[in-house]
Amino acid sequence: MNYIQEKQVAIEAVTKAATLCMRVRAEMVNLNALEKGDRSPVTVADFGAQALACQHLKANFPQDPIVGEEDAADLRQPDNAHQLTLVTRYVRQFQPKATPDEVCGWIDAGNATIADRYWTLDPIDGTKGFLRNDQYAIALALVEGGDIKVSALVCPALPLALDNPEGEKGAIFVAVRGEGAKMAPLNGGSFVPIHVCRESDKTGLRFVESVEADHGNQALQAAIARAVGITQPSLRMDSQAKYGAVARGDAALYLRLPSPKYPGYREKIWDHAAGTLVVEEAGGRVTDMYGQPLDFASDHLMHHNRGVIVSAGPFHEAVIVAIAQGKAEPEETSGKAKP
Ligand code: AMP
Ligand code: MG
Repeated sequence: MNYIQEKQVAIEAVTKAATLCMRVRAEMVNLNALEKGDRSPVTVADFGAQALACQHLKANFPQDPIVGEEDAADLRQPDNAHQLTLVTRYVRQFQPKATPDEVCGWIDAGNATIADRYWTLDPIDGTKGFLRNDQYAIALALVEGGDIKVSALVCPALPLALDNPEGEKGAIFVAVRGEGAKMAPLNGGSFVPIHVCRESDKTGLRFVESVEADHGNQALQAAIARAVGITQPSLRMDSQAKYGAVARGDAALYLRLPSPKYPGYREKIWDHAAGTLVVEEAGGRVTDMYGQPLDFASDHLMHHNRGVIVSAGPFHEAVIVAIAQGKAEPEETSGKAKP
């Protein structure tokens, strides 16, 4: 067994962060705030989750750089003192003596750049889902030499069984390179191995995509799914919960093709690293839309990749071919598929 300590610390870090997020969502997200477009709940949870996860990682691996999504520059501004007070109040439920300055310091511990060995953290992936009371995730991965070695992904609102949406919610996915992927209930319980679905049974296969239309190209995604034999309507889900859905066999394919509206968009490492290892270790495949491996070795922006294909395996090549046959034009602005 490898990376025993890293795996344990990663599980603890994301579990603490997720607990904070769930408390903030229960206490601060309400219809009123949503109608007013008030993003403060997600801001408080985002900062609080990054502070807790980075504090825990740094306490255990002080030398490891952390490349996280947030930094505390805005939070330190006098105008945001109220927000910092709120973040500190939530962080103190775990670190009772934390000062506002320490909280900012922990958040900024997540501002490192990529190194040979580093952690990447998305304290809340799927902020729109968080605010809508839909799916969101806390995602953490350890990368060495550009290869993801350990990942922990918490989806606090994901039903443990998708076909029982009113049943228990909250799943934690964990993977170590070469050792398989596992899932456990976030509320406690044991980890069980998970596997992608078998593709021999094409009836009933589904694909998953973002809820937010602007995070992909939904017309093209539907066309590509049809081209590889998936006839069911897509399952729409926010955040890296989509990787969890493929890894445990809820969906056979996750397509994230470049939005025609944002042709210059580059995917970010923290939006994909944790999910990628979970799917790969569950037996699936992850590449960009051209079949290239995702690049976790260069920068937090994946300059060398466009779009993402996540699949249960065998028909991955067929998806790449369907895209290459002129069905995808990332630079065009009309969003129409070529004939
Ligand atoms: P999802 O919940 O899968 O729709 O993705 C949420 C993530 O989408 C966020 O973490 C953002 O980093 C990312 N995002 C923002 N804008 C875009 C875009 N134009 N294309 C793809 N992803 C985006
Ligand atoms: Mg994200």
